[in-house]
Amino acid sequence: MRSTAVAICAPSGVGKTTVARRLVEASVDVVFSVSATTRPARHGELHGVDYFFVSRAEFESMIEESALLEWAEVHGELYGTPRANLEEAQRNGKQLILDIDVQGARQLVEAVPDSVTIFLLPPSFDVLMGRLKARKSEDDERVRRRMLTAKSELEAVGEFQYVVVNDRLDDTIEQVQTIISGGGQRSEGGTPDVERLSRGLLDALGGAKA
Ligand code: ADP
Ligand code: 5GP
Repeated sequence: MRSTAVAICAPSGVGKTTVARRLVEASVDVVFSVSATTRPARHGELHGVDYFFVSRAEFESMIEESALLEWAEVHGELYGTPRANLEEAQRNGKQLILDIDVQGARQLVEAVPDSVTIFLLPPSFDVLMGRLKARKSEDDERVRRRMLTAKSELEAVGEFQYVVVNDRLDDTIEQVQTIISGGGQRSEGGTPDVERLSRGLLDALGGAKA
């Protein structure tokens, strides 16, 4: 069965925005959930397309008015999903793709129990660093901060229903399309391959657990 809400999570730089956008381009039945955020727009990002860029005061009003389905503080900025995004998708019979962090995915599952949760992993640590640097949107300090958050995100991989390694983009899109249309093998708790890869990534991040 198709679920209305699909959360795609991954450490920064793995490719979730790219994957989410490709899914939307590929099907008129899939829409992207435009989040509200207090972080400044990156070069080329548009208000209402990539994010709703709001002030902290505006964001706090949205929280008070219960206008957010979920929200979290990530890298020192606030990010949240307008409740209206899901309502509109439900009204129009569309699937809503949410590019959100792990804290947001947990809240989403509480609020919308039939949500689908997908975690994307990079094929290796070197590929992840390469992608993050190639994007050129963060200075070294921000990259360092995002790597620290990556550790806690990776530790949550076992909570996700599905795990996909974002190596070749076309293969990733195909796998995620299968999952969101109701197919795919659920991998909660992690498969040996996923465990090996995430342990290797955590080692590389200096956060290995015994
Ligand atoms: P995220 O939203 O997870 O932070 P992005 O979607 O911004 O990541 O992707 C980070 C960088 O990696 C971008 O430059 C993007 O074009 C590139 N990228 C994403 N997926 C792939 C892939 N499968 N192969 C190669 N490059 C990729
Ligand atoms: P970025 O600043 O790179 O666009 O996003 C930083 C992090 O915030 C990413 O992990 C992204 O998935 C997450 N994020 C974006 N929008 C939301 C949202 O609405 N809610 C939550 N919880 N996280 C979000």
